[in-house]
Amino acid sequence: MQDSAQGDEATANRVVPVNGVASELRVFEICDPTGQTALTLWDRQIMSVQEGKSYRFTALSTRKEGDRTVLTSSLQTAITAVGDVGRPPSVRMLAVAGDQAVRGQVMGVQIVVKPRCRRCHAGQESVAARSTTHRCERCGILQHTNAYVFTYSGMVMVATRNGEELSLTLTNSAVFNYVRDNYLARMAHDGPSLEEEVIGLSELEATVNGEGLVVRFGPGVQAEVSGSAKQDGAQGEEVKTCELGELLAESEDINA
Ligand SMILES: [Zn+2]
Repeated sequence: MQDSAQGDEATANRVVPVNGVASELRVFEICDPTGQTALTLWDRQIMSVQEGKSYRFTALSTRKEGDRTVLTSSLQTAITAVGDVGRPPSVRMLAVAGDQAVRGQVMGVQIVVKPRCRRCHAGQESVAARSTTHRCERCGILQHTNAYVFTYSGMVMVATRNGEELSLTLTNSAVFNYVRDNYLARMAHDGPSLEEEVIGLSELEATVNGEGLVVRFGPGVQAEVSGSAKQDGAQGEEVKTCELGELLAESEDINA
């Protein structure tokens, strides 16, 4: 099936174990003119969507959440940007806990990289850090190392300016965005090298969500750069919900 829908962020990222691997999920509120529901996206898919834009989602499954039917993506789900699909006439507002900014010196860091074969989806135990190719440990196909799907997890210890030491959990999307935004693709599959980069930062700035997870981090902005008021404290974020419509009627038959 295919659904075109507009995404609105609804809840904070969470990390849950799936088959022994830490997986990141985020629940979005999506809508089109016929209705609205929740859509759970996983890992790399979370970074494929932006709030307020319209997408086509394939291979979704439905599941019951109380008396509400909600959507969940699968490994086969493809996400394609489309033109604005519009919104339903009636909306219900709901608020979620906001993000907090944390700034300080990095006292310790751990980044674990779990590569997965894009073809057979098997997790890989030993990918050589300096090698540009890797043979899948299950399907045996030799592939470029950067063609594997990497899932990140880990933690960072930050000493803030007021003397507090925080131990923060890193999400997959936070590390992925750090690698991308700081041009570290050459070491994307090399946890120890990424750890060296992070501990080498003179100051780290992180966004921590309502679940206490780091959803974004990077080098702290230099104090001399003037004028940037930091956003701090919890802040409500409003999203829209409304009645379900054809969106769900169309998807009932693909329950996985
Ligand atoms: Zn494979």
